[in-house]
Amino acid sequence: MRLIGVAVLVVSIFIAAVVFVLPEPEGFPILEYHQVTGEEFNDGSEVYNVPPKEFSAQLDYLQAEGYTTITLQDFMRAVHGKTELPDKPIVLTFDDGYENNYTEMLPILEEHGMTAVVYVITNEVGKKNYLTLEQIKDMQRRGIEIGSHTADHLPLTYMDAKIRRSQIADSKTFLEWSGLNTIYSLSYPNGAFNDEIIELLKENKYLTAVTGEAGLNTLETNPYKLYRIHIREPRFGLTEFKFRLYKATFFAKLHNIF
Ligand SMILES: [Zn+2]
Repeated sequence: MRLIGVAVLVVSIFIAAVVFVLPEPEGFPILEYHQVTGEEFNDGSEVYNVPPKEFSAQLDYLQAEGYTTITLQDFMRAVHGKTELPDKPIVLTFDDGYENNYTEMLPILEEHGMTAVVYVITNEVGKKNYLTLEQIKDMQRRGIEIGSHTADHLPLTYMDAKIRRSQIADSKTFLEWSGLNTIYSLSYPNGAFNDEIIELLKENKYLTAVTGEAGLNTLETNPYKLYRIHIREPRFGLTEFKFRLYKATFFAKLHNIF
């Protein structure tokens, strides 16, 4: 028992030191969303849904805090010195390509004059609850960056090399041959990646890839290992959102020590 007490104390002191003593890290957050919907699901996916009202409140908060949304193409332009990042950049990303990204999320985003990156699973395009090709094209026309979340959403680390290659290449080709502008960004299904996968992304002319690891991003961050924080169904409203946003800072501090 005493040993557990000591361990808890040590961990608490460590966390307090990280939060209060370490300097504020540099960098900007990338948020990972899935669905924006008020619908009730009971299949386990509900934890990934943010109701429209909550989403709108989150965007109000980001605006009040002085954040400016950018796309990952904006980020890469800044990496190459072609543009400058705004004072407080932030990237909003949406995984899987759900139809409510178009019907619910986009109007709220536009009301706030913000932009986002939407990663589609190309073999789901046009299926029930997923975006259609026309909706995807319209989003791109309206300034949303479209990225690939691969063809079938299988973890890329556990598959035959040939299938891995086609998951990465075919999803990009499908979108581009369907009339979309060049696809530069990818979101790793289940956040799974390794060096071999990064090489494949480079070969296929992807410029960025987002992970599921928490942290902040700077112009020096490896663009194929971008940190993201997951925004889940908020049970405690904006307080929980602020807490999740702080998680990026907390982990950025940890990355600076280790
Ligand atoms: Zn996904």
